[in-house]
Amino acid sequence: MSTADKYTTETITDVRPWTDQLFSFRTTRDRGYRFVPGQFARIGVRDPESDETVWRAYSIASASYDEHLEFFSVVVPGGAFTSRLSKLREGDPILVERRSYGFLTTDRFEAGRDLWMLATGTGLAPFLSILHEFQTWERYDNLVLVQSVRTQQELAYEDLIQGFDRSEYYAEFAHKLRYVRIVTREPVPGALRDRVTKLLASGVLEENVGLRLDHERSRIMLCGNPEMVGDSRKLLSGRGFRVSRRGDPGHLAVENYW
Ligand code: NAP
Repeated sequence: MSTADKYTTETITDVRPWTDQLFSFRTTRDRGYRFVPGQFARIGVRDPESDETVWRAYSIASASYDEHLEFFSVVVPGGAFTSRLSKLREGDPILVERRSYGFLTTDRFEAGRDLWMLATGTGLAPFLSILHEFQTWERYDNLVLVQSVRTQQELAYEDLIQGFDRSEYYAEFAHKLRYVRIVTREPVPGALRDRVTKLLASGVLEENVGLRLDHERSRIMLCGNPEMVGDSRKLLSGRGFRVSRRGDPGHLAVENYW
């Protein structure tokens, strides 16, 4: 395969800022591009000065059936890639590798009744894609989405998540969703304040959700801050939850974000 066959050149079709540092953007999608919800794409941005392309992994936030691809990004202070990315505007080109990657997918699991999705920051992205898959709603009795951010303004996609019950397509399933917002650095009515790891360790998260974490029922996905992922994984391993491996389904699937 030549280098050109490895990727397609797409176009930015929309940029949506959430805060000074958080933004989402959409691109056109090649007709042949396939992914499983929860996977990530590798996207490339050309540096106009050196004419070199820099590549980064980005979880796909859009649905597998959408005609576009959507990504959710933070501007990393001093980071060349994300600062360049954040300056892209509608009509600009962006490269997308033809292959999709990653194992943060529900097909890693067998059985299970409750799907827990624990996200910090932009780690929310793959869960948005998973939540737009009808199979997810059909397969599980309960979907628990935990979104941890620092400030209320960073609760990106809150309206979309709370709007599933008003959606023509998802309303019939929406009662299955339990959405927990954690805002760690300011008080927000209805949101929890402690870190997700503390809430897990103390049992407060389970109490708040109204479901117990249980080997038979629970399948758990973790995505975001690598320390959060590592610490949560340790906590859950201590309670007997195992990471799914190829050919050996367990209870946990994880993705570090940077
Ligand atoms: P973040 O620091 O990851 O915080 C998001 C949420 O996760 C907050 O509620 C935070 O709580 C919580 N959290 C952080 N560490 C935790 C841990 N060890 N255990 C449990 N919860 C934890 O915020 P962010 O805005 O997503 O990212 C912050 C910075 O990370 C960015 O500015 C960037 O520099 C870097 N980042 C880099 C990339 C990359 O691709 N290179 C991607 C994402 C983020 P607290 O308020 O208590 O900290």
